[in-house]
Amino acid sequence: MSEIITDIPLNRLPAIVAELGLKPFAVEQIIEWLYRRRVSNFSEMTNLTKQARDELAKKYKISAVEKAGVETAADSTRKFLCGLTDGNAVECVIIPAEDGRVTTCISTQVGCAMGCAFCRTAGMGFVRDLTQGEILGQLILAMRESPEPITNVVLMGMGEPLANLDAVSSSVELMLDTRAFGFSKRRVTLSTSGLLPQLDAFSRRFDIKIAISLNATTDEVRQRLMPVDKRYPIAAIMDFCREYSHRTRHRVTFEYVLIRDINDTMTDAKRLVSLLRGMRAKVNLIPFNPFEGSGMDAPLPETVERWADLLRENGIQVNIRVSRGQEILAACGQLASKAVIGE
Ligand code: SAH
Ligand code: SF4
Repeated sequence: MSEIITDIPLNRLPAIVAELGLKPFAVEQIIEWLYRRRVSNFSEMTNLTKQARDELAKKYKISAVEKAGVETAADSTRKFLCGLTDGNAVECVIIPAEDGRVTTCISTQVGCAMGCAFCRTAGMGFVRDLTQGEILGQLILAMRESPEPITNVVLMGMGEPLANLDAVSSSVELMLDTRAFGFSKRRVTLSTSGLLPQLDAFSRRFDIKIAISLNATTDEVRQRLMPVDKRYPIAAIMDFCREYSHRTRHRVTFEYVLIRDINDTMTDAKRLVSLLRGMRAKVNLIPFNPFEGSGMDAPLPETVERWADLLRENGIQVNIRVSRGQEILAACGQLASKAVIGE
């Protein structure tokens, strides 16, 4: 089976090009064809010699994902099922916003090992990490499918991105490289359940936006919802965030999924205010998106409003993240491939 060229990290391309007997500047040309023009065939790489194109086509395939299905919601959010070469599948979502931004939400693993109690992906268990070509393949598919240009990328789909650090890092490198996708670094966001050592390393290498899924204000509740809290409890997250915002001058975004009667009391809201005191932080309130078998409920709408008011009164920037594409289970954290879990 031929290798997939989009799986190759930027720093390995010179060696590949040399091996094929091409001039060093072919690296730039290949990057441009793959990630700026996003061709699907080597024959389209017209500034390479015929011989070079043939050699490449003999050794490599370009795409690691193919569109295996699409669902469109009433709010025009679209969810794609991306088939992988081994028969697995992941989902990515295109979310157009009223302000003209078009965000694509991308997966980083098939399933997830983190076991969060409120997350649909967690129910699949962990199957495997995605490769660079599979991560970027979702982005390329979204760019091809979206009638409007994709303006933002969020690594918030299936999986814990920092548990797949190598492929996620080399993918982010290509997202930011101006010769490749050339996204501005403030338009790419990585969301993590809080794997702190990996987050520290990643944040020293890439200056993209960071979001941390907090989802509780006591370790007791957070551990029940997110087993990762046993390793990296709330106090450690807060220490990291203070250091991070001091070092980078950036705000950390906290995601807080409000689940009725579990983490949505006003005592929790007040505790969150105390936790964030003196920190440059932003909070995304996400009403829990229930799914069959979750055994948990969405918060009452007035609870979400009361939380937002209290946080704002205390000078904290708040966004209520409306669940887009709810009926097609397209909200982040709602992704789980039917092909894999056999629904
Ligand atoms: N693994 C990463 C990124 C993927 S999950 C992380 O956990 O941050 C993306 C976001 O979806 C997280 O903030 C998570 O808390 C949220 N989420 C998961 N399940 C959800 C659900 N059922 N309803 C609403 N948000 C959910
Ligand atoms: Fe994994 Fe994130 Fe879902 Fe937790 S919320 S199981 S870390 S995808």
